Amino acid sequence: MRMKIGIHGLTSCYGCQLKMACIEEILEVAKNFEIVYWNMASSKGEIEKVDIAFVEGSVVTERDEEELKLIRENADALVAVGSCAIHGGVQGMIFGEDYEEIFREVYGDSLIDYEAKIGEPLRKYVEVDYCLPGCPPEEHEILYYLATFGIGSYPEEKDYPVCAECRRQGYPCILIEKGMPCLGPVTVAGCNAKCPGFNVACIGCRGPVPHGTAWFDSLARTFKEKGMSKEYIKRRMEIFGKQYEKLDEMIEKVFENED
Ligand code: SF4
Ligand code: SF4
Ligand code: SF4
Repeated sequence: MRMKIGIHGLTSCYGCQLKMACIEEILEVAKNFEIVYWNMASSKGEIEKVDIAFVEGSVVTERDEEELKLIRENADALVAVGSCAIHGGVQGMIFGEDYEEIFREVYGDSLIDYEAKIGEPLRKYVEVDYCLPGCPPEEHEILYYLATFGIGSYPEEKDYPVCAECRRQGYPCILIEKGMPCLGPVTVAGCNAKCPGFNVACIGCRGPVPHGTAWFDSLARTFKEKGMSKEYIKRRMEIFGKQYEKLDEMIEKVFENED
């Protein structure tokens, strides 16, 4: 019997699903599964019992929350796909300003039939079994996850930073050598240090390394030594790390005697 899967999108840009849909081998791979729900690819389908649910996007509205809970009730395993689902994503990034004010500025007096809030990761609402990081995830990782599930196994998540891949590729360190604000040391690997490979500092799009080992404080200290201000460091780290527990505290610690 083929494994049943569902692919879902909460509030997001749908880029992770698009990435899945664009994989050259996806039709071949899909033959090994029964896809019972994929709203982006087909308007047919109801949320029903599946072996694995892949969920993209973060929880921004009540409807997201209800849908996520229904998906969870009906799935033996749930995979959070992409930075939005795992960490809240860019919609989890509000730089300290008043959310209500920003909402009003964007939507004005328009009639919106839902109340929105800052994007939150899935794990704040339901149990998440696996995380497939990226913004969006890399093709090879999507295929790896599907392949391991397909043979009745489970994927092993990376627990080391982009720096490890950067060193392995033999790229020069643009943080140490050029003082560029690279977030590679706190960002989970998997992209083969794509940006440093083009001489561009990592912005942390894959999200912080798991298991509480993203040492933002240590990196903030290095950034500070390179002449970056507290505000700049905070804003840069918050783009994909805003929902990281103790991020503020870690940055404050580095600057505590200066304010
Ligand atoms: S993780 Fe990135 S690509 Fe995926 S839905 Fe969120 S913003 Fe889009
Ligand atoms: S360039 Fe960035 S990713 Fe590469 S080793 Fe330096 S800090 Fe790490
Ligand atoms: S280097 Fe950083 S910003 Fe670039 S793709 Fe990798 S994780 Fe994302």
